[in-house]
Amino acid sequence: MHPDLAIVPDFPLQSLNTFGIAARARAYLRLTSVVQLGAVMADPVLAAMPRLLLGGGSNIVLTGDVDALVLHMAIEGRALAGTENGHTLVRCGGGENWHGFVQWTLAQGLGGLENMALIPGTVGAAPIQNIGAYGTELKDVFHSLRAYDVASGALRTMLAADCHFGYRDSIFKHAEGAGLVIVEVTFALPQAWQPNLRYAELGLAVQEAGLAAPTAQQISDIVVAIRRRKLPDPAVVGNAGSFFKNPVVTQAQCAQLLAAFPALVHHAQPDGSEKLAAGWLIDQCGWKGRTMGAAGVYPKQALVLVNNGGASGAEVVALARAIQADVAARYGVKLETEPVFI
Ligand SMILES: Cc1cc2nc3c(=O)[nH]c(=O)nc-3n(C[C@H](O)[C@H](O)[C@H](O)COP(=O)(O)OP(=O)(O)OC[C@H]3O[C@@H](n4cnc5c(N)ncnc54)[C@H](O)[C@@H]3O)c2cc1C
Repeated sequence: MHPDLAIVPDFPLQSLNTFGIAARARAYLRLTSVVQLGAVMADPVLAAMPRLLLGGGSNIVLTGDVDALVLHMAIEGRALAGTENGHTLVRCGGGENWHGFVQWTLAQGLGGLENMALIPGTVGAAPIQNIGAYGTELKDVFHSLRAYDVASGALRTMLAADCHFGYRDSIFKHAEGAGLVIVEVTFALPQAWQPNLRYAELGLAVQEAGLAAPTAQQISDIVVAIRRRKLPDPAVVGNAGSFFKNPVVTQAQCAQLLAAFPALVHHAQPDGSEKLAAGWLIDQCGWKGRTMGAAGVYPKQALVLVNNGGASGAEVVALARAIQADVAARYGVKLETEPVFI
């Protein structure tokens, strides 16, 4: 075996997933370079093993032990990478912590990522579900990424059009992108930065802070404060953030639902469809604060499922399925899960 490959057998994963689910991996490797990745694929025993790419473990549910080689993305590095069409390009290794990277760009005087401050996880995983918060999505500031293709061993450069970004979706969540390991992401941050305060709650908070012309750093600080108030800290209560996507329905479906449920929370989308608030639907079904075994629904936010201590992946899945069944029965709406079930 290659000398750089310090494979650890039977590795505990509880501290590597924000749900805090106890599970073990058949084998584990901390991945610090593309060269190492090449060495894994060149080793006949390792190349034949099933693999699981792991970032910060903040968007996964471990449903049992992982019978695979866990490759823990830890490729570091961040750098200014020139300018293009009025934007500063910033390049970052896939293993860097997302929030740390956001704060670093702000310290360089670059705005653009501030609305997405404090999202847990790694930079390499951010394109996977096109992360977003408070009115900004990754695709709005994305330039390109480099991905290692395990089938060919080649490094591919992918532009936005190649990534098929959608609402909490991209090519990497589908079969075509399954063999790609994102090792580096480049962002294009506007030199003529303007605050994005279209998300009502954020706009109001900036107003209440008395900031007529907020800086990107001030907006980031406000986003961090809102998130700390609303969401459970995974270091204290295990969770994976929003557990369900907000369902998108047609205008006709929305009108039908509104006739039966006049208080329905819905937001018109640019393409004419309507996005429903999954949290509201779950709350209306009486799930907020309820528990099933050691898994539960966060009392302050029905969209977040939590580990109240010692929950198994099976308990989290059972709770999610029960919620989906109730929402489907009452509203005829299918709730899709956001985290990846492993
Ligand atoms: C408290 C909390 C709040 C959250 N808030 C938000 C939010 O506001 N908006 C939002 O969009 N998300 C949010 N999330 C979800 C999560 O933080 C993001 O999806 C994040 O991008 C996941 O990163 P990760 O490194 O933890 O990925 P992981 O959970 O480790 O992996 C997720 C998936 O991506 C794959 N993967 C990971 N890294 C790579 C790579 N380099 N190349 C290829 N595949 C890879 C994994 O195999 C897995 O399938 C939240 C989560 C928590 C716990």
